[in-house]
Amino acid sequence: MFPNILKAEFAAIHYGKQHITDEDIAAVATTLRSDYLTQGPKIAEFESAFAEYVGAKYAVAVANGTAALHLCTLALGVNEGSKVITTPITFAASANCVRYCGGQVVFADIDPETATLDIDKVRDWLSEAPKGTYAGIIPVDFAGYAVNLEAFRSLADEYGLWIIEDACHAPGGFFTDSQGIRQHCGNGTFADLAIFSFHPVKHIACGEGGAITTNSKELYEKLLMLRTHGITKDPALMHENHGGWYMEMQELGYNYRLTDFQAALGLSQLKRADEGLARRREIAKRYDEAFANTKVLPLTPPQDGGHAYHLYVIQVADRKGLYDYLRSKNIFAQVHYIPTHLMPYYQQFGYKNGDFPLAESYYRQCLSLPMYPTLTHEEQDYVISQTKSFCSQ
Ligand SMILES: *Cc1c(COP(=O)(O)O)cnc(C)c1O
Repeated sequence: MFPNILKAEFAAIHYGKQHITDEDIAAVATTLRSDYLTQGPKIAEFESAFAEYVGAKYAVAVANGTAALHLCTLALGVNEGSKVITTPITFAASANCVRYCGGQVVFADIDPETATLDIDKVRDWLSEAPKGTYAGIIPVDFAGYAVNLEAFRSLADEYGLWIIEDACHAPGGFFTDSQGIRQHCGNGTFADLAIFSFHPVKHIACGEGGAITTNSKELYEKLLMLRTHGITKDPALMHENHGGWYMEMQELGYNYRLTDFQAALGLSQLKRADEGLARRREIAKRYDEAFANTKVLPLTPPQDGGHAYHLYVIQVADRKGLYDYLRSKNIFAQVHYIPTHLMPYYQQFGYKNGDFPLAESYYRQCLSLPMYPTLTHEEQDYVISQTKSFCSQ
């Protein structure tokens, strides 16, 4: 399926890259020739296939991952009085979704071993405030490492909080719970809602696209309505019925729909998701082996085979030096992430350098090396040798 793995020619090597096959193109073309461009049969097909893939009861396909996050905070009733805890090491949208509803973002520092939200720091915030102060927690499966949501669920239950799992990096990822059961990211066992992105650098590409998964029928129905302007045409839900044309706008919703041809692309990509995930894990293993006993320190969270490797992150002392050196060698590594609390927008709320020392120190050293299923062995070997050669200077 990845015939180029052993091919020698390469130009620029980026940190992530989509993989579009003739089959994907044919699937999109078929949908473009059909009667539906938006909200046709491919949406429902994609939603049920994706829900099945992650092991959740329901999936709602939306315009992008950010729209998915916004619909989650809306559905959970975030408002001006809501305080929500999340990690500073994530894409800004994980925090922004709270602001869209006027809520307050409270960051907590990371566990340096995994670069994910440190549950002990979250517990500190919760135990220091009167009960009822916080509304929810948004943990992020950073880089593809599945957060232990069983632990977050029991903490959340203690304080009556909801959980939105930002699983954008981790379709197919899992953690092993206390019963020894593999809990896949987004399966809805512990989180109220989970969100995914189908941006081209993520595992499954729709162009733009996203999904929310859940096991709650009530939240699912709310999300469907919010995705389409807050409008329902379901006679069972309407207050009145004037005839065939009649519909009711019952809440302030949005147009966050995905198109049918994007869903066709997602559906076609989903068929290769397991294969792509296996390649990502294989690439990570090759990096791990190559960097053992060198000055290149991979971020290696505890292993149970469940890492989904959206990113392969290393930590090095001279990160800027390595970044610039790799660029000069046509290797476009990337930094994930500049801590969200240090963004000028969040600094207006009083956040500043020094607030979350572990996140800040992680940021100074982190670099994401190329990681995508069609990365060839030769390209990877070139990345490895250039990285090692800079770091051994
Ligand atoms: C990509 C991403 C998002 C946003 O997804 P879009 O589809 O780009 O809107 C949110 N959270 C995380 C962690 C992401 O990586």
